[in-house]
Amino acid sequence: MVNKISYVNLIQQIKNEKKQVFRSLDKIFSSGQFILGDEVDKFEKKICKFLGVRNCVALNSGTDALVLGLYLLGIKKGDEVITPPNSFIASTAAIVHVGAVPIFADVKNDQNIDPYDIEKKITKKTKAIMPVHLSGRSCEMNEIKKISNKYKIPVIEDAAQAIGTKYRNKFVGTFGEIGCFSAHPLKNLNAIGDAGYLVTNNDKLAKRATILRNHGIQKRNKVLTFGYVSRMDNLQACVLNFRFNNLKNIIKKRRLNATLYFRHLKNLKNIQLLKERSHEFNTYHTFVILADERDKLKKYLEKKGILTAIHYPYLIFEQTAYKKRFKRISTNDLKVSKKINQRILTLPVNQFITARQIRKICNEIIKFYK
Ligand SMILES: *Cc1c(COP(=O)(O)O)cnc(C)c1O
Repeated sequence: MVNKISYVNLIQQIKNEKKQVFRSLDKIFSSGQFILGDEVDKFEKKICKFLGVRNCVALNSGTDALVLGLYLLGIKKGDEVITPPNSFIASTAAIVHVGAVPIFADVKNDQNIDPYDIEKKITKKTKAIMPVHLSGRSCEMNEIKKISNKYKIPVIEDAAQAIGTKYRNKFVGTFGEIGCFSAHPLKNLNAIGDAGYLVTNNDKLAKRATILRNHGIQKRNKVLTFGYVSRMDNLQACVLNFRFNNLKNIIKKRRLNATLYFRHLKNLKNIQLLKERSHEFNTYHTFVILADERDKLKKYLEKKGILTAIHYPYLIFEQTAYKKRFKRISTNDLKVSKKINQRILTLPVNQFITARQIRKICNEIIKFYK
């Protein structure tokens, strides 16, 4: 169909930058340095400077950032980690991969973890709190840090969707012991394959992460610990360094797009907009609304050539992977998670969408409810 509005546009992105990116990649082809390397070092420095954090360790994915992060915090078999049930599966998978048990805390209407419920879920076994800054919106980090300090439980932030997001003027990912980011092609700062990174102000943890990502090798032939293969490719880092220069513009455009949605949809009572609060600076990795008759609306928009998405259609405890592994949990206290999951809908917000297209999307939504 012509004039389809899709909610991502990766082809357009690479088209615009092909010439310059290919020239940089060509240099790497000539250097023969494919794994780790100068571009990776450069990327780590850029992220440190941008976030104002002491260390960044470039990895092969956001998932590995979470797994290594938990491992570095000493999370092990039988420990409990508190996390929301509405995230992408990787947050909980990372907890399971280190042998720990995910304990779900409910979220608020804005999809982010409810600090009040975190505190309720703490037991003697709780060894970490993993908030997820879903959609590029910050969690309530002051409240979460208070709980973390009170019970002496470290925070590991899943900031996979939230590079550049701020909470009270401080970047998310820099509040906890460790912040984990993804540079998957669908994220706002994206590679052309898998990539991720973790950040920390703890030099010791960073050093151990650098060793762990590379087979546990400290120096050539000297292996300190049994490690992993979790390094970033020089080629991916090269693309990320190039795209990093545009990150601020991408965030600006996405924020502008969100403003347009807020303006056009503000009088619609069938829709709840998740407005930005004064202490938030959201980067709109996704733009999520809560909609009446969500499934019908989604189908209607699709017919009109507007592609939307649901992040995510199933709560993690509803997934087979979870059910096969863990006993059935009572979900009575996960009320908001369950309620909003029937209503969440992700509208296109990417940097290539035009103001006119957003108006068209909003007009169709208004028409649907009439
Ligand atoms: C994308 C994502 C991840 C995983 O990142 P990958 O780089 O794909 O491994 C983890 N958590 C959340 C919330 C994500 O959106």
